[in-house]
Amino acid sequence: MRIDLHTHSTASDGTDTPAELVRNARAAGLDVVALTDHDSVRGHAEALEALPEGLTLVTGAELSCRIDGVGMHMLAYLFDPDEPEFARERELVRDDRVPRAQGMVTKLQQLGVPIEWSRVAAIAGDASLGRPHIAEALVELGVVETVSDAFTSEWLANDGRAYVDKHELDPFTAIRLVKAAGGVTVFAHPGAAKRGDTVPLTAIAELAAAGLDGIEVDHMDHDASDRARLRAFAAEYGLLVTGSSDYHGSRKTVRLGEYTTHPDVYGEITRRATGAFPVPGAGGRPRA
Ligand code: AMP
Ligand code: ZN
Ligand code: FE
Ligand code: FE
Repeated sequence: MRIDLHTHSTASDGTDTPAELVRNARAAGLDVVALTDHDSVRGHAEALEALPEGLTLVTGAELSCRIDGVGMHMLAYLFDPDEPEFARERELVRDDRVPRAQGMVTKLQQLGVPIEWSRVAAIAGDASLGRPHIAEALVELGVVETVSDAFTSEWLANDGRAYVDKHELDPFTAIRLVKAAGGVTVFAHPGAAKRGDTVPLTAIAELAAAGLDGIEVDHMDHDASDRARLRAFAAEYGLLVTGSSDYHGSRKTVRLGEYTTHPDVYGEITRRATGAFPVPGAGGRPRA
């Protein structure tokens, strides 16, 4: 069983549509894929509709959170998307991404970059708007060579000249909301130091005490020593350990299934979840 529990589609800052994503996941030899767009579940319906036979979809989202001034991402799986309190919070976070992106475009213009809001909006379409969409406009303008190259202190990194904060959830609130909606939480790439400050293990221990289910360990942003440290931490605090690609289509170089989660951990996630259930593919036929 090959299981990848963290991917993005055009519902946020990935480049595969949800239908393309599930087809590509099957073509990459995956048996299980989770669709975890930033602060959004809007890709789920299309992914379910297109789900190939042999692939199981885990519905999820990656929630933008902040603790003690440090941004972090919380993966949430198999929650009830219609639970009203959590649905409302997701919408608040998602909607705030628009004025925030407009603020970054304005800052870029003040820095002399001839970027147009209309172009960023066109690149994003109806996606949950993120820095990679702005970065793509910067690539088109020749300001940077790749999307990743825009994530520097010169441009869009957390300490970047054109960076603007977005509304983010307190992770204790996120854990409570996800649990109330029957879902399971996994702290995404907790050791991704090159993205900015990371959350100290003491704080992750507090999240564990508050009901955090697991941490993502095998991820492209973690080196061997990060993984060893995080695995030992997870063992000490009884946290599940996942691995996943964090695939973004052509906006990142990582491939679907490049990192995977052990079937026992996947089994435990599905046992804990009560808000939604993994859906086995029906071969892309429309569901009744
Ligand atoms: P935002 O959600 O708008 O704050 O943008 C953050 C997102 O940008 C992350 O979730 C990643 O998907 C992406 N990202 C962060 N750093 C990089 C990077 N170095 N290269 C490509 N994408 C990145
Ligand atoms: Zn992303
Ligand atoms: Fe993330
Ligand atoms: Fe992600």
